[in-house]
Amino acid sequence: MKTLAFIVAAALAFAQGRAAQGLRVYVIDVEGGGATLVVSPSGESMLIDSGSPGPAAERDSARIADAMRAAGLPKINDLFTTHYDSDHVGGASAANAVAHFDRFFDHGEMDPKWEQGRGIEDRYGAYLGIAQGRRTVVKPGDTIPFGRARVDVVSSAGKVIDRAINGGGQQNPFCKDAESKPPNTTENSQSTGVLISYGRFTFLDVGDLTWDKEMDLTCPTNKLGRISLLLATHHGFFNDQSGAPALLWAIQPQVVIANNGPRKGMAPAAFDRIQKVSGLEGLWQSHLALASDKDHNASEDMIANLEPSAECKGHAIAVTAKSDGSFTVANMRSNISKTYRGRQ
Ligand SMILES: [Zn+2]
Ligand SMILES: [Zn+2]
Repeated sequence: MKTLAFIVAAALAFAQGRAAQGLRVYVIDVEGGGATLVVSPSGESMLIDSGSPGPAAERDSARIADAMRAAGLPKINDLFTTHYDSDHVGGASAANAVAHFDRFFDHGEMDPKWEQGRGIEDRYGAYLGIAQGRRTVVKPGDTIPFGRARVDVVSSAGKVIDRAINGGGQQNPFCKDAESKPPNTTENSQSTGVLISYGRFTFLDVGDLTWDKEMDLTCPTNKLGRISLLLATHHGFFNDQSGAPALLWAIQPQVVIANNGPRKGMAPAAFDRIQKVSGLEGLWQSHLALASDKDHNASEDMIANLEPSAECKGHAIAVTAKSDGSFTVANMRSNISKTYRGRQ
């Protein structure tokens, strides 16, 4: 009995210690793919996307395991897959081997008509192999239980929320002269997106959601409100398929993190567009954008990796947030961090 009492006390202390850390977000470097670990203040954990397949899967799952160690997690409860492109679901089996997921969330049946490149059927099959029977298909407006944090699904399978959340709903002045793009025909357009909230802190991750759907979310009214932290859509507006100013400038993120690769995303135009966010306090990048000059990259302190992929150590960017809306972003390469105050 003594042992049991001790274990209970130790577990309680552990849980309280974690709660004191608030909500945590680890933007894991998977070389221009997606893998973001989110841990709720009450200890529930969710991996949003699982990196790339093939030889890259071993590298990516090792980095996911590094983030688990940093977060003190023996496993990850949920795998949330934004879409079935290789850099988001290709690593699912390898990630499952280290994370032992309990539950799986996605946008539903894969439709091969959205395929870009090859192999979407194989990836989807491999994903079903681990997810089947434990899978939840989400739609816009759904909420996912996540302990003391809240997860709102804002987009899925080409649709977006029809009602405003997070204090949104205002007319969006940036829609008036906004550039429209035709309906996108890639799997990116099907991305599920989430707004994760903990008190006044909000984090938006919409995967590779395309320009046309970003416009649906924020025009003519901005349905998302203002947010604290944005994971820059599509690795920093890759090929300008995402990054609609009408969304970016309306949601006014305090801080933007780009999960860009050395040569994927965060082109100079994306960098410039982010600088025009009113009230922007910081831009962090997973990688130095090697094709851009110094003036179109964040300062080195705020870049997690400076090398091309072959030499990259895969450092993550870690965020801890409190319910008053304040949050700290840390570069796990240099351990340099910056704290941002909650907005009034
Ligand atoms: Zn992607
Ligand atoms: Zn890297």
